[in-house]
Amino acid sequence: MAKYIGPVCKMCRREGEKLFLKGERCFSPKCAFERRSFAPGQHGRSGGHGRGGANRESDYARQLRAKQRARRVYGVFERQFRRYYEVALQRRGLTGLNLLQILESRLDNVIFRMGFASSRAQARLLVTHGHFTVNGRRTDIPSMLLKPGDKIEVRDGSRSATYFKDLPELAESRTYPAWLARDPKALTGSVERLPERAEIDGSLNEQLIVEYYSR
Ligand code: SF4
Repeated sequence: MAKYIGPVCKMCRREGEKLFLKGERCFSPKCAFERRSFAPGQHGRSGGHGRGGANRESDYARQLRAKQRARRVYGVFERQFRRYYEVALQRRGLTGLNLLQILESRLDNVIFRMGFASSRAQARLLVTHGHFTVNGRRTDIPSMLLKPGDKIEVRDGSRSATYFKDLPELAESRTYPAWLARDPKALTGSVERLPERAEIDGSLNEQLIVEYYSR
């Protein structure tokens, strides 16, 4: 899959809030948003699409921002994001919740949420380097969608790498949601069920995203 290679922190400044895309750095004084919280570009300080312009935003602008924000949080390109929306539309139930559940069930997100990576970007990299198996089969596809019952494991050949030797202790210090199970010592985990709305980032506005695509 193609990968966004622009400056990641710019996305937080564009959204006017921290999106926590860089793992531990996001919690340190090095966070670019802590130092410069205005939007990037020459109009960043004066409003426009930045924070100052929020009150003047049209419905369309709010829908667009909500969609862009979710795309950036999960690191998904437009074409794939729209495809997820179309799948969500066909599923039974609420389209917005379906969409969030699809995003949450991506392999890179699941690995991040299990505490096996400090960010989705890092999880994506670990997957593309072939460090994980799903149901016993090696995969290097971060966008792979998991379903309840799927089992994840760090590949035998990767366990001697320093990162994975240190991971059990690191993962123990991180929380994980109830829809996932994990065993940090064994470097394994599984999807128990789909997440409920309350278990997904509350700052995402799926209603606005649905409105954006159903215009
Ligand atoms: Fe956003 Fe993290 Fe960069 Fe801070 S360090 S601007 S939270 S990606």
